[in-house]
Amino acid sequence: MTNFQLSTYNFQLPATFFIETYGCQMNASDSEVVAAIMQNAGFTIAGDIREADILFINTCAVRDNAEQRVWGRLDFFRQLKQRRPSVITGVLGCMAERLKETLLENGTVDLVAGPDAYRSLPQLVREAESGQKGINTLLSREETYADISPVRMDKNGVTAFVSIMRGCNNMCAYCVVPYTRGPERSRPADSILAEVRGLLEKGYKEVTLLGQNVNSYAWKNTDDPSKTIDFAKLLELVALEDPALRVRFSTSHPKDMNNAVLYTIAMYPNICNHIHLPVQSGSTRLLQVMNRGYWRESYLERIARIREIIPGCAISTDIIAGFCSETDDDHAQTLSLLREVAFDAAYMFKYSERPNTKAARQFSDDVPDGIKTRRLMEIIALQNRLSLESNRRDVGKTFEVLAEGPSKRSPGDLAGRTPHNKMVVFPKAHCKAGDRVSVKITACSSATLTGVMI
Ligand code: SF4
Repeated sequence: MTNFQLSTYNFQLPATFFIETYGCQMNASDSEVVAAIMQNAGFTIAGDIREADILFINTCAVRDNAEQRVWGRLDFFRQLKQRRPSVITGVLGCMAERLKETLLENGTVDLVAGPDAYRSLPQLVREAESGQKGINTLLSREETYADISPVRMDKNGVTAFVSIMRGCNNMCAYCVVPYTRGPERSRPADSILAEVRGLLEKGYKEVTLLGQNVNSYAWKNTDDPSKTIDFAKLLELVALEDPALRVRFSTSHPKDMNNAVLYTIAMYPNICNHIHLPVQSGSTRLLQVMNRGYWRESYLERIARIREIIPGCAISTDIIAGFCSETDDDHAQTLSLLREVAFDAAYMFKYSERPNTKAARQFSDDVPDGIKTRRLMEIIALQNRLSLESNRRDVGKTFEVLAEGPSKRSPGDLAGRTPHNKMVVFPKAHCKAGDRVSVKITACSSATLTGVMI
């Protein structure tokens, strides 16, 4: 413990904090906001979890197994607390929002803060330090943390996430996000552009614009409400900041992916030719049950327009196997859609019911687990083959690769990504992280390309 005299607080503060992050890129981005808020209040980041005075776990509630991992991790936190009882532990993010009191009843947890309550963390720490349980899970209609300059916790100093909006209004039947992250809010465009400029000054080479549904981004100029910046315009403004800056975005919603965005991607060479467009199912009937707002044919029409406007654009997706009432025919339609689109990559999951969602309240989770597993295995096997075919088509071609750092499997080599978001491993030679190099692809697996610099 260290005594701190701060502008707002005058009490004994634990000095260091450590954040463990689970879940999506939005959570990683949120942890950087949390780090900034804590640093601004006088705390410092601990290099080692065992030495930290405050342990935060930033959680994900999207799937049940993500929550189970967090409970397992809280067991480890309990052991650390047994050794050092002064340690304060806090659960942040979606699971904090969802489970509030249950978490506090677990003897290990001293405070919980929902995704819109991070500004109150120093205060919650103070309450926890005085022996009270700290809790703030209020959701906001305005909070975007626009004025917070995130502390970059990425290791490479090359690629960074920039949050452009928070929350979601879509209410997909299976999804807990609208309940845990609140309604959709867009962040002011000028604060996004200022953050991008700051990253450029620090030497970053790539930004990924983040939101649950980036295509519905809309920022009304407060001085002139007749002027709205939509996502296509924002993308253009970010791309224009520096033609050498690579720009990515995630996640898109098929119902909102309009042609204006596609033409913007086609127009600016520094916007990467990769779109992640979650389809979830190939069956129109099931898409309607899921409340996705599009159907198989309209999704395929979007794919056709992407390929027409941005030839060669890589497309990845998300698939859920075994959603409520899914029949063998629905599943067969998912497999046929995978074949028809020939996605370059996919994230594939077995449906797990999330409490309080429309699906949990109104539908029966009626696909037996064994059938869910079999369908998921079929989807994975097919997609692995499609990914391998996609990668094989790249062998012999040359791509601009942005080196991100040492390869995990062969630390003597460098790893980086093509504009199509494919990971490439290549001999380091004179190269370093942050360099943009031309790499000729010589071999591949379904997950990775390997190549040589030319
Ligand atoms: S678009 Fe649907 S799946 Fe995505 S965050 Fe919103 S509700 Fe969830």
